[in-house]
Amino acid sequence: MDRALRDLARSIGGTVATDAVRLERVSHDGSHLRGQPAALVAPRDADDVVRVVRWARRHRVPLVARGGGTSLDGESVPGPGALVVDLSGWTRIHDVRADDGWARVAPGVPNLALQQALALRGAFFPPNPGSWATSTIGGNVATNASGPRSFRYGPTRLWVREIELVLGDGTRTRWGSRVRKRSVGPDLVSLFVGSEGTLGIATEITVRIAPRPAVRRGLVVPLPARGPPGRLAVALGSARGTGLSAIEYLDAGCAAELAGPGGLGPVGPGPLVLLEVEAESEREADRRESEVVRTLRRTGVRASPVRFGDADELWSVRGQASVALDRRFGERIREDVAVPPDRIDALVGAIDRVARRHAVPVYLFGHLGEGSLHPNFVVPPASPTASRIRGELVAATLALGGTISAEHGIGAIKAAHLEREIGRPAVEVLRALKRACDPDGILNPGKLYPPRAARRSSRSPSGAAGSRSRRGGPTGGTDRGAAERTPRPGPRRRAARP
Ligand SMILES: Cc1cc2nc3c(=O)[nH]c(=O)nc-3n(C[C@H](O)[C@H](O)[C@H](O)COP(=O)(O)OP(=O)(O)OC[C@H]3O[C@@H](n4cnc5c(N)ncnc54)[C@H](O)[C@@H]3O)c2cc1C
Repeated sequence: MDRALRDLARSIGGTVATDAVRLERVSHDGSHLRGQPAALVAPRDADDVVRVVRWARRHRVPLVARGGGTSLDGESVPGPGALVVDLSGWTRIHDVRADDGWARVAPGVPNLALQQALALRGAFFPPNPGSWATSTIGGNVATNASGPRSFRYGPTRLWVREIELVLGDGTRTRWGSRVRKRSVGPDLVSLFVGSEGTLGIATEITVRIAPRPAVRRGLVVPLPARGPPGRLAVALGSARGTGLSAIEYLDAGCAAELAGPGGLGPVGPGPLVLLEVEAESEREADRRESEVVRTLRRTGVRASPVRFGDADELWSVRGQASVALDRRFGERIREDVAVPPDRIDALVGAIDRVARRHAVPVYLFGHLGEGSLHPNFVVPPASPTASRIRGELVAATLALGGTISAEHGIGAIKAAHLEREIGRPAVEVLRALKRACDPDGILNPGKLYPPRAARRSSRSPSGAAGSRSRRGGPTGGTDRGAAERTPRPGPRRRAARP
């Protein structure tokens, strides 16, 4: 450990580690990217976080906040020489006020742990990403995560009331309020949500919580082998009297991976739609389920649903879709696009055409009710082919009026594409906001903001986060160098403009 790090270790109540085992653990996230952190710091409290940020400014060292490390686009992959600020040990649930609809938590609380604590109080936190066993509330907020239930309840953005954070200049501040209604200018909380650790480090979060419905029934519905899922999404999404809170899709390949004992059970050879019906009694749930079945019949789906009494069991199985594909195929492109529901079939067609053009197998699952799909192209994700596939998928999605990220975020992998969706003026506003919160650009450089190098090719970015794949090869095409210029330790000067 060098002198500066020893000074840091002495100045905080938490710990600083540089051993290879711990650094390896935090050098990657759920993507194929791999970084080279200089150290891991586990702050003890918010005062420690302030000290860490001030130290990092002084020494010009990048900081990467980390929760569960499950993000899928390199959001939590540290660039070379970065310090990982590990908040996974911050697991306290400080306060739950079910009557007033909020819970105040430390950022490292795993999503599922919060759900379990809230269930005892008759409440729940609606965002339930597939990674809920290990992803944290801090990570969910910083990526604006969603899960199956976002069809009814929306993404994490709608479920955050207040955030205590430390900005990139070391200022400790509080954004938002526990009050239910508030109209005091633009919403800073919403700006923080989805900012991927680039504006500040959250040290405490107050989330909104909802009353837990008495019955939450999961339904698994086999679909005809070749029915376009979009028509079904629109029919189910607009049906009345169904109490649907989730409309999920697994293509035949993904369904086969999750079928069998301990999974979805015997489900047949075709694609599946997975649903959640909410109700306040079993009778009401039966009535709503019948309405769902009638709607399915109207769209030509004849098979009867298989029932899961507790929808959470179904979502735990569904959350394994990505893991099952990991086991079978290893690294691949895991995309995350969305279009308006009436364009789902056009998107599915475009995905198939991209896959066929490159002769690459594709597996598809996603949050059908919201037009949010995860095409998994089985191709080495750092290869030139992968880069072309991503580019074509982005173009097709945007042409359909869609978005390049429904829920996973931008990270390092999609930073180069951000401007194509939101346009240069909006990117410049984001950059200005970044400069206001993090004047030296030390917070998670290389993520979210498009690399300036894309426009000024003579000045290549240094230290692209996650610039090497797990196999040790450089990431190819547009994924490579998807970084802000990474500050390096050295004499104090103003960082490259973010
Ligand atoms: C099997 C699997 C299934 C998944 N399913 C879904 C899904 O259904 N829906 C979905 O949306 N995503 C899903 N994801 C992606 C991922 O789990 C989410 O993005 C999740 O929100 C990341 O949380 P985390 O705690 O792992 O964050 P990390 O990966 O640790 O960090 C993610 C980002 O948040 C920042 N961050 C973390 N903590 C803080 C903090 N305290 N302050 C400031 N910034 C912070 C990091 O710097 C980073 O930029 C899945 C991933 C896997 C591996």
